[in-house]
Amino acid sequence: MSSGEPSPKYIFITGGVISSVGKGITTASLGRLLQSRGVSVTVQKLDPYLNVDPGTMSPYQHGEVYVTDDGAETDLDLGHYERFLDQNLTTASSVTMGQISASVIERERRGDYLGGTIQTVPHVTDLVKERVRNLAKSAGVDVLIVEVGGTVGDIEGQAFLEAIRQMRYEEPRNGTLAIHVTPLFHLKATNELKTKPTQHSVRTLRSMGIQPDVIISRTDIPADESITDKLALFCDVPAEAVMTLETASSIYQVPAILERAGLTELTLERLGLEARSPDPGRSIGDWIEWTDRLSRTDRVCRVAIVGKYIELRDAYLSVKEALIHAGAQRGASVDITWIQSDDLDHADQPEIAAALADVDGVIVPGGFGERGIEGEVGVARFALEQNIPYLGLCRGMQNMVIAFARERLDLPQANTTEADEQTIDPVIALLDEQREVTEMGGTMRLGKYPCALLPETRAYELYQSEFAYERHRHRWEFNPQYRDRFERAGLIASGTSRDGELVEIAEVCEHPFMLGSQFHPELKSRPERSHPLFLGFIDSVLAESETALRHPVGATNSSH
Ligand code: GLN
Repeated sequence: MSSGEPSPKYIFITGGVISSVGKGITTASLGRLLQSRGVSVTVQKLDPYLNVDPGTMSPYQHGEVYVTDDGAETDLDLGHYERFLDQNLTTASSVTMGQISASVIERERRGDYLGGTIQTVPHVTDLVKERVRNLAKSAGVDVLIVEVGGTVGDIEGQAFLEAIRQMRYEEPRNGTLAIHVTPLFHLKATNELKTKPTQHSVRTLRSMGIQPDVIISRTDIPADESITDKLALFCDVPAEAVMTLETASSIYQVPAILERAGLTELTLERLGLEARSPDPGRSIGDWIEWTDRLSRTDRVCRVAIVGKYIELRDAYLSVKEALIHAGAQRGASVDITWIQSDDLDHADQPEIAAALADVDGVIVPGGFGERGIEGEVGVARFALEQNIPYLGLCRGMQNMVIAFARERLDLPQANTTEADEQTIDPVIALLDEQREVTEMGGTMRLGKYPCALLPETRAYELYQSEFAYERHRHRWEFNPQYRDRFERAGLIASGTSRDGELVEIAEVCEHPFMLGSQFHPELKSRPERSHPLFLGFIDSVLAESETALRHPVGATNSSH
């Protein structure tokens, strides 16, 4: 920044017509592009719903709940931001209308408003502006990018848009930039791209007092200049600021597409920012070099994800991304077979073998509630007995422990009290602090905790470190009363809480790779720095597939 008091700039990103149009990726990509010009940046999401956070929402409603280091349960877009920016965000980056409303009402009850009538303008909008400005200032960044969830015109989003309108008025002329992301519709019958929905959406945005500076048009097929010219004319946006973003083969291609479209230059120019040399590893060349790896793979890694919320792939978004990162690091593309775990709840081992016939490794990810647990335990048992690489993430670790207890500890009734409160062998149980919890929201074990790694274990070998810091979101834990028995039988606690009490990583000693973590390593994987546990898993899956090639199915099966 130039001399004097640095005042942060704000970029507001709104979406039009429909959701899932790529606003989150656009936001994350622009952040990465600004970093590539040495501009410091952070990101904030404004979500219009009235839940305080998505932690209490079903994954079917909302997709994955992303967790930050400081334990905020947030929208999955925060995962994109963290991965593209390689930045750990905090609770300040996740604002919902539920939080704003709760705090307005709390202030009112305290008497802070001194007899006034509490209204959306100014009380709600003031609070929104406060949250936005506080983050920009506390992060000390040149630019804060603010993404507004939902679509322009939604009733819930109005107060956010009004706060943005006010900020555009209050900040200097070159202090803010408004970007509107909308889809172009392709009509098959006439093979035309239609701009009318975007025109309407921009009209709605303007009726809220916000004239977009940039329009990003998402399209599945190439759009020519006549389309951008038309949008420019009807929406009052210069043609060079109307950009088309064609659907890419990977979300990681989007920064390069937007760079080529001129978004970085335009943003710097409009905000009056000077480009500087980027931090090491942050140039656009570095990013493109990494994304090139995604298309230069010469091996395939075949993995099953066996979970409860498979119908909605977004429920395991970070798991998928973490696999892509680890695969890219090994020159492998990842072919995922998605398996609904409750379909296997009553399956016997041959049925499970059939379901897993085309894969060389299994991941059982997180999940809540009884449904699907038996199917997942069956899959863990199969992986245990057949020496198939297995990575358990939170619930996947718990189910691996249950399978091991039933198979190797002679505890056929072993279970988690989440599925069976009366089980005689609660190998996974609630510890005291969780037993007393009565409220649902924000009461799990959440966020970053240290994990001490036991030397001479697989976990230690992968992390190459005595401590790891990983993110949690769960209530149940490995029951310490059974720990000795497990360890004697060959399932060891290779990672524990600092005081050694809680089991954070469990691994099976006599197995090519069977490891589960009570935390969610997928949340810490980054494109250019894949997670050690995912890398270890991918390595053993690749080794497994190479062995399978040497011994085609049917040729060998004697040892099991
Ligand atoms: N339901 C389990 C628990 O609360 C697992 C949670 C998870 O997988 N995130 O402990």
